Amino acid sequence: MPVTIGALRESTPLETRVSVVPEVAGKLTQSGARVLLERGAGVRAQFPDSAYKNVEWADSPTSVLEQADVVLTVQPLTVDQISLLKASAVVVGFMQPHARRAEVKALQERGITSFAMELIPRISRAQSMDALSSQAAIAGYKAVLIAADHLQKFMPMLTTAAGTIRPSQVLVIGAGVAGLQAIATARRLGAVVEAYDVRSATKEQVKSLGAKFVDTGVSAEGAGGYARELTDEEKRKQLEVLDSRIAAADAVVTTASVPGRPAPKIVSRAAVERMRPGSVVVDIAAEQGGNCELTRVGEIVEHQGVKVIGPVNLPGDLAYNASEMYARNLLNFLKPALDKGELKIDWDDEVFAKSVLTHAGQIKHEPTAKALGATIGGIT
Ligand code: NAD
Repeated sequence: MPVTIGALRESTPLETRVSVVPEVAGKLTQSGARVLLERGAGVRAQFPDSAYKNVEWADSPTSVLEQADVVLTVQPLTVDQISLLKASAVVVGFMQPHARRAEVKALQERGITSFAMELIPRISRAQSMDALSSQAAIAGYKAVLIAADHLQKFMPMLTTAAGTIRPSQVLVIGAGVAGLQAIATARRLGAVVEAYDVRSATKEQVKSLGAKFVDTGVSAEGAGGYARELTDEEKRKQLEVLDSRIAAADAVVTTASVPGRPAPKIVSRAAVERMRPGSVVVDIAAEQGGNCELTRVGEIVEHQGVKVIGPVNLPGDLAYNASEMYARNLLNFLKPALDKGELKIDWDDEVFAKSVLTHAGQIKHEPTAKALGATIGGIT
């Protein structure tokens, strides 16, 4: 029997993306798998059912969940959805292990094998599977467009018969994947861009995109190429320099995050109060608690004439491309395990070994297991 790979019409409100796009469905069926989709799965991402070839359709999510050997998902499955899975099922997708404890527990208790896209190691070989990066790049791009949309100024310098218009000043805080894309987008729009990150390795990357690096004298490289949390003294030093750059900016795009921790607070209320009326803060980290003290998730807070925007699910605003990229990430992850229509996971492969969240009744990701008070076992 060929492996059945299922995907749902995402049930989370505001989720417009789909985990399987027609191109990827075609590649999965070519590899010998049976692809089973809930009707309308791709519609909100502009992939109508008619765009999918050689797939089978289910009229309900229950029917997909009960039949699938592998479920590919964008958002974590709910506890109710998990209860419908086969005990031998494999789930691959974003799992939000830090936040979705009940769901992780349900996966563990049902003995489901789940792989979290967030946990895929960031090694060269796994770049094609790196969904954090593909989706972060979209968020960085879209955040600048939102800033441009809310500003009552041009981004570029314009020389017109009515005089010269000065370019907008954009400050990007956090120069990881989202931040670098934000810088590139703001530069393409003609803004003068400054950027800041606690990882000194970003300095050259920022400069190569034509932006100025703001040096606060604080360097905080953590494990695995990520940032670590700052000490109170480092935070104070950072803000001393940053606050004046925030005050000078027309638009601030914040993207700073530290894995497994709430987003660092970098833009204070006082800093916003120093900004010119009409300025904009777009806080990409809103869903992780926000980099700005005034951010409210899903809202635009207007404070003394400054708009602080806390967008939700930015990749979902570009659902077509976001789904294409995400579905390819999933395909690249799954491909090595698909052998003539059968699923065979090589547990010696570090990509599978490090991204597994639950397997055979155990939580395999140490920080998640600790947070849930569970013991961690070796992979069986
Ligand atoms: P992220 O989303 O965890 O964080 C975004 C940025 O915020 C990071 O650059 C981080 O340094 C920065 N940051 C954290 N605290 C800050 C603070 N207090 N002030 C200012 N900035 C702060 O990071 P990410 O974008 O997912 O990428 C992080 C790292 O992973 C980078 O080194 C990136 O190059 C690397 N990476 C490697 C691969 C790969 O090799 N396959 C793929 C993607 C990313």
